[in-house]
Amino acid sequence: MALNKLILNWYDKNKRDLPWRHTKNPYNIWISEIILQQTRMEQGIYYYNRFISRFPDLKTLATSDEKDVLLLWQGLGYYSRARNLHYTSKHIYNQLNSEFPESYEELIKLKGIGDYTASAISSICFEKSQPVLDGNVFRIISRVYEIKNPIDLNKSRKVFKEKAKEMMPSDRYGDYNQALMDFGSIICKPLNPLCSSCVISKFCSAFNNNSVEYYPVKSSKSKIKLLYFDYIVAKHKNQFLIEQIKEGIWKNMFQFPVHVSESKKTKKEVIKFLLEKYQAKNLTIKLIDSEFIQHKLSHINIRSRFWLTENKINVDEGIYVSSFKEYPMSKLMHKFIEKYTHELSIS
Ligand code: SF4
Repeated sequence: MALNKLILNWYDKNKRDLPWRHTKNPYNIWISEIILQQTRMEQGIYYYNRFISRFPDLKTLATSDEKDVLLLWQGLGYYSRARNLHYTSKHIYNQLNSEFPESYEELIKLKGIGDYTASAISSICFEKSQPVLDGNVFRIISRVYEIKNPIDLNKSRKVFKEKAKEMMPSDRYGDYNQALMDFGSIICKPLNPLCSSCVISKFCSAFNNNSVEYYPVKSSKSKIKLLYFDYIVAKHKNQFLIEQIKEGIWKNMFQFPVHVSESKKTKKEVIKFLLEKYQAKNLTIKLIDSEFIQHKLSHINIRSRFWLTENKINVDEGIYVSSFKEYPMSKLMHKFIEKYTHELSIS
């Protein structure tokens, strides 16, 4: 039996019962695929169910406020995914008469939909012959064919895509793509793959050559950048100053005013930043905690400190608020707010 048929047979007996597997509605599949990027399955299911119960269809999402979408997305990270979901829902609703494009070529033109998501939607919802390439598929292909091209380099993508195309069956494209994802998560796992119970082991070069542990190949690790965030907790009559973020990964979310630097700043330097930003007079600041609050993103390690200043800053931009709950904020902001709720009488 061909390799793709063996994987489909395995899937028919072992597929995971996931909430989005009960529908082929492209809206649901789109939401699930975007949430699952960079997200553990358990967390993905939780957020998917929450998202669908709050925004059950395209129209609800397209006619909602972006702030509400970001609020719901809090804790998932990679917030551009939420902004793009909202933007694209409005585009499909207003410009495409609520009709989801069916082809890979049309889907990939939409903001936030890349090669992987376009392949997943077109194959799962519309039975187009488009192979998906996610971490699972890279891993399986690299092992089965002993491909030495590093999977984390863009230039390797073409090699893997060609192989993935060759491996496609002649029907059941959507099932096959989902089968590979399940197979990679359950059998051909990153560590300790279950080769002894693998239904495609006779096709697997790495298994037959006893070299599974060497695949997939990765290039040398990309450098992690270290950044220092000095947040200013400006308090005024029991209210706190927050600003909407204009650019970057947390765009359109809210935070305390912040100074970002590649090196640790002195108190004097933080005051200088504040004086320039707010033209405040007789400014005094004090550290709320001398320890850094650490926060890790995929390519950035953040060391953050929080400086308190009271009744000194008047704002042109930003707002003073007494409750943070109505404003979408990063996990890092939440870490601080949770830790110091009591001390600062923050609600
Ligand atoms: S034999 Fe092992 S390495 Fe090869 S595909 Fe199966 S689980 Fe993966």
